[in-house]
Amino acid sequence: MRKVLLVEDNLINRKMLHDILSDDYDVMEAQNGQQALDILAQCAEEISIILLDIVMPIMDGYTFLSIVKNTAQYSSIPIIVTTHNDHESDEVLALERGATDFVTKPYKANVILHRVASLIKLRETAAMVNLYQYDRLTGLYTTEYFYQQARNILTGNPDKTYDIACCNIEKFKLLNDVFGIPAGDALIRALAQIISESVDKRGIACRLWADQFACMVERRSKYSNEDFERILDILKSKFNLQNVVIKWGICPVDAQDLSVEKMCDRAMLAAKSIYGQYGKHFAVYDDLMRGQMLQEQAITDGMQEALNEKQFEVFLQPQFSISQNTISGIEALVRWKHPEMGFLSPAAFIPVFEKNGFITKLDEYVWDRVCEMMRGWDEKGYPKLPVSVNVSRADVYNADLPDTLAQIIKSHALTPDRLHLEVTESAYIGNSENIISIIEKLRSMGFPIEMDDFGSGYSSLNMLNDLPIDVLKLDMRFVQNKTGKPIRHEILQFIIDLAKKMKLKLIAEGVETKEQLERLRVIGCEYVQGYYFAKPMSQHEFEALLEREMANV
Ligand code: C2E
Ligand code: MG
Ligand code: MG
Repeated sequence: MRKVLLVEDNLINRKMLHDILSDDYDVMEAQNGQQALDILAQCAEEISIILLDIVMPIMDGYTFLSIVKNTAQYSSIPIIVTTHNDHESDEVLALERGATDFVTKPYKANVILHRVASLIKLRETAAMVNLYQYDRLTGLYTTEYFYQQARNILTGNPDKTYDIACCNIEKFKLLNDVFGIPAGDALIRALAQIISESVDKRGIACRLWADQFACMVERRSKYSNEDFERILDILKSKFNLQNVVIKWGICPVDAQDLSVEKMCDRAMLAAKSIYGQYGKHFAVYDDLMRGQMLQEQAITDGMQEALNEKQFEVFLQPQFSISQNTISGIEALVRWKHPEMGFLSPAAFIPVFEKNGFITKLDEYVWDRVCEMMRGWDEKGYPKLPVSVNVSRADVYNADLPDTLAQIIKSHALTPDRLHLEVTESAYIGNSENIISIIEKLRSMGFPIEMDDFGSGYSSLNMLNDLPIDVLKLDMRFVQNKTGKPIRHEILQFIIDLAKKMKLKLIAEGVETKEQLERLRVIGCEYVQGYYFAKPMSQHEFEALLEREMANV
């Protein structure tokens, strides 16, 4: 039953009203304004309506009315003032102060019941509309209502130009995990308020979901990094959080046929394009980004068919032993012979597949192909060279990985020591315990583990001690020093000595010149991979190379 709060000092009146209402409502009673406020403090959200007398001791009805209407949590509760027939001025005064309606004495049961019921219904409908229009956490528009309002504004103001700006708190999930959900909510609310104040009368704003917001504002001449930095500074000053980062993306409203939703997607995409870029607060969606997006889309659209139709080809790049002057191993690197886009290098599609999850399927295919090749080589009597395959971070998250690999090895009657698994250094950070335990499992099954791109910036030397690895693949820039500033000889020497002490095999990648090779030889690096010796090549080319080598021995 809905609750009615009856505020009336006169016992007889109270009883009469109680009798009228108590069949349909749960009636709570207060004898003056103060008592009624106490009840509200306890359970305002349960009360559907208030019936209020004006003349009462301690706190009269007018004072009570003013307080209720000026308190945010109470102000939406409808109030019916009960007056005497002859006091018209009371009614006017009460309505002026925010009373919703009034009933006059003597009480007519039907009239009272009718008014109470219709006011409650009115309020509940309004609340539902509110729920649809306003986000409960922040008070900003909901996504749906924002789209609708934005569309209305655009069609209603064809002479004006607008921009859609979206933002996202970087690593918000992490903040939530570390500080707790209530703190995360508080941060979102504070950001909502700052956004709402910044947008002010120039536009509208909403919370898209979680920590993502969207605004539509009249276009300014130009956005500057400082505009967005200011928002961040206000937020930081409120929360004493130094690490919070917000990325903004802007989509100019140019194409009239594009839905507001699509424009928000584009703005969000622009924001995502600057994730991890220090000091960069915003990016504008442009043709370049559009091109990239279309390319990504084409890659996503074509990937399954490409796999079915064997458009992916496994290339092989030999690794060499410096002292033996022979091929010591091979890295398998995938290529895509795209029917329209031509020959694609992994940089064009691997990051897309890592995002959409397809990498797991592709890698399984590559591993299977590699094992099939090895089987063939064994049958032809080639030397039993190990092949290193790349294992994406996304693969390692998959708890089935050990089974999958075991299955592939078994189906080609090979042993796991032939298939080296390259896991990039950056995969070890973040959810490292989980990843490390899966890698440990793989290693215990007999797969040699290689850390790819070692030294590209993530692992600490300290960590190296605890990681299940057999081989370090030294990141190219140690060899190439293309940044202009030469990598110091001492550092390279240190890494080589360290690898020796830890009994890790070290492979230097990206050796392109004789000078680089000499430098590595002098400081005692044994294994190398790079264009100086051989570029990645097709299976056919590789087999020809191997046969030449075998003939030379
Ligand atoms: P990575 O595993 O570090 O592979 C080494 C990359 O360096 C390869 O690029 C190789 O072609 C290139 N490279 C080799 N020697 C030289 C050299 O002397 N100079 C220069 N400048 N580059 C050299 P690629 O084939 O374009 O592959 C790029 C990355 O894509 C790989 O880096 C790997 O992370 C990823 N990738 C390639 N194939 C696969 C795959 O089948 N699965 C997964 N998950 N990732 C793959
Ligand atoms: Mg690799
Ligand atoms: Mg590498």
